[in-house]
Amino acid sequence: MRGKDVTLDSVSITYPNGFTAVAPTDLRIEAGEFFSILGPSGCGKTTILRAVSGFIEPSQGRVLIGGEDMAGKGPNARPTALIFQNLALFPLMPVWENVAFGLEARGIGKRARRDRAQELLHLVALGDQGDKLPSELSGGQRQRVAIARALAVEPSVLLLDEPLSALDLKLRQHMRAELRAIQRKTGVTFIYITHDQGEALTMSDRIAVMNNGVIEQVGSGDEIYSQPRTAFAASFVGEINRFEGRVETVENGTARIVTPLGRFRARNPEQLAPGADAMLFVRPEAMVPGHAENRLSARLKRRDLEGAFLNLFFEAQGVELSVHVTNDGRAPDLSGQDLTGLGFSAERAVILPAGPLARTGSELAAQ
Ligand code: ATP
Repeated sequence: MRGKDVTLDSVSITYPNGFTAVAPTDLRIEAGEFFSILGPSGCGKTTILRAVSGFIEPSQGRVLIGGEDMAGKGPNARPTALIFQNLALFPLMPVWENVAFGLEARGIGKRARRDRAQELLHLVALGDQGDKLPSELSGGQRQRVAIARALAVEPSVLLLDEPLSALDLKLRQHMRAELRAIQRKTGVTFIYITHDQGEALTMSDRIAVMNNGVIEQVGSGDEIYSQPRTAFAASFVGEINRFEGRVETVENGTARIVTPLGRFRARNPEQLAPGADAMLFVRPEAMVPGHAENRLSARLKRRDLEGAFLNLFFEAQGVELSVHVTNDGRAPDLSGQDLTGLGFSAERAVILPAGPLARTGSELAAQ
């Protein structure tokens, strides 16, 4: 099997009711890449997948697979296969027949179908399970049967729409490694849709962060985590502290921002000009008690033990700050009286245009 590249060339998608789910988008996914589209519910991830698989046509622009324009080609005419959260295995068919299902329509004889199914079951580490019924397998094993079935038709691009969301947490984490290994072994291009940043960060070569029909940033997990380019990307992926303020001065890739907590210097990748409304973002592990640069005073309010590290919650001028330090076995003073000097290096903080933020867990829970 071999993967093909996928290109969205100015693709926008408006549904018949007039709602534009995907704003004009340019995107190139490389052949053999594990590529995730990460974003909150309703941001347009599935809509992009539908346009790549041929279930809908873009309202504008072109979808190309392996350089070939897919306009007018339905799902069966495209070199793609799709896996949903709902696996839809046939309950009365043994596992191997489920895997071989798509091959019969292609005129492949029973013997060859069985051999091919066996090969694929071996690939997904179910080589000795072919004669069982789906109901005799665990959730994770059934998921692997679905993957083997999708791969049976030798797609160049496998489209996965939140395929792990029905599994429990442990299994989900185990399946991340399995999926990654299967992708590596086959070389098929995987386009993986998820709202779970942990999944995207652990499995992907690159990630597109999507919000409100717009792809805001594309990059490796490291890039997105360490060098976010929008307020939404910074706040959606991982924990982060933020201070609102206004850019005061700029120089050589950095800027100084005035905030209610003080003046701070940080990277300025979007080249904001003095006077711009902006937000400063700093990861909890980049805020260090006693650091000499970008200093501020805060009171320790709470500490959560996470095992290898401590999650410390400080308060400064009504703003809550999260600080992660390694657990050295000495519990910090929780009297709440002492002001602690916190600081962070300008290199590990970023000033970005003020903009919509990802909603926090408690905001989502209150819905
Ligand atoms: P989820 O993770 O919840 O599946 P998503 O990011 O995959 O979300 P989409 O299913 O692509 O989101 O939907 C994007 C937007 O388009 C949503 O606001 C949705 O309500 C809207 N939408 C989806 N399908 C249609 C349709 N057939 N007609 C009109 N609007 C639609």
